[in-house]
Amino acid sequence: NAAVATATAAVDPACAEPLAVLGRDVTVPLVTGGEVTYAALDYAASAPALQRVWDDVAAYAPYYGSVHRGAGYLSQLSTDLFEQSRVTVAEFLDCRPTDQVVFTRSTTDSLNLLAAVLPADCQVFVFETEHHASLLPWADARVTYLNAPRTPAEAVATLERALADRDPYGPALVCVTGASNVTGELWPVRELAAAAHAHGARIVLDAAQLAPHHPVSVQELDVDWVAFSGHKLYAPFGSGVLAGRADWLQEAEPYLAGGGASRKVARREDGGVDVEWHTTAARHEAGSPNVIGVYSIASACKALTEAGFEHLVARERHLIAKVREGLAEVPAVRILSLFGDDAPRVGVISFVVDGWNSSHFAAALSAEYGIGVRDGLFCAHPLVRTLLGSEPQAQGECGAPEAAPGERSLNAIRVSFGAGT
Ligand code: PLP
Repeated sequence: NAAVATATAAVDPACAEPLAVLGRDVTVPLVTGGEVTYAALDYAASAPALQRVWDDVAAYAPYYGSVHRGAGYLSQLSTDLFEQSRVTVAEFLDCRPTDQVVFTRSTTDSLNLLAAVLPADCQVFVFETEHHASLLPWADARVTYLNAPRTPAEAVATLERALADRDPYGPALVCVTGASNVTGELWPVRELAAAAHAHGARIVLDAAQLAPHHPVSVQELDVDWVAFSGHKLYAPFGSGVLAGRADWLQEAEPYLAGGGASRKVARREDGGVDVEWHTTAARHEAGSPNVIGVYSIASACKALTEAGFEHLVARERHLIAKVREGLAEVPAVRILSLFGDDAPRVGVISFVVDGWNSSHFAAALSAEYGIGVRDGLFCAHPLVRTLLGSEPQAQGECGAPEAAPGERSLNAIRVSFGAGT
């Protein structure tokens, strides 16, 4: 335990400075009294706000006003910041000029939005290894679940085989994650996009775990859409993004019906109502949007870009090696991996500890060493089942497993970190 604790907490001072965040090594008051100095290493669930994000939000908050609705200065300022944020996110993702950036609540919301605008008869292809947010929104479409590959090349071959068998005339969508929220491993997104397009399918990238760690270029990866969440990108104020091709978004009914999405509404003579919907991103953003959430995402995008992903990636690579070395010193630890030890990865590492109930182990790291990690199945039940090679223990949807005290659990423990660690 001491080795795990030391390794997970270790940072080489010779490495580049981390981006300043709120909540790293914070002193937290305990509900039971007293306080503990705490290292939060659960960035894959939610990363702490960057100091820059916090400062930008605090500077804007006194001037908050509703967007697109008022002639007053507060409303004008808010509208301007909101629309500027769209431009910043489009630049961050290196979108095509014709792409739309729709602001949502989260990655889950973004993927459900895309699922709601699929053309009729769309076939969807998704690996069973996905986070439930990518796995589950397609239930109303014709879904093909692809078996877990054991190498990136096998992932591409598996997708190509499935696409070759599909109805070649209908629309199709592939949904794939950029970096696994369980193993941290990078998926071969560019190759999967090429395979999808070669077979006339489109592809959406779940970048929830990729965007905080690596630059994501829609154009270089040649993906049709990207989804990510602000709270995993150091902007925990409740907004997310779906960015990409406008056509399916414009042709479908609005995701939410209401003000903001509608351009013109009039009573008909027969007593009904005619609605003309916007064809811009506003079509799917009905209601008063979360301006602070959106502005905070733009602030995080700027901070990461200005810090330089080349530095952030190098620092994180160093941290990953350090944590893995520390874990390797503990014989009872087995790191979970789909693509093998040498696979490129982000700072998300899951492991099991022989003889330990994962929730007890995580609780001990927290209580005894002040290290906050996550344990359980990480909302990726089929993947964790494959990695454990056995049936994991029953648990609440995403929460901690329900093992009896002293009972051994085969669920996993996850340590995750990033640019602000
Ligand atoms: N996709 C991946 C890979 C994730 O790790 C997560 C969250 O853990 C999600 C999607 C869902 O993100 P959110 O809960 O912000 O909707």
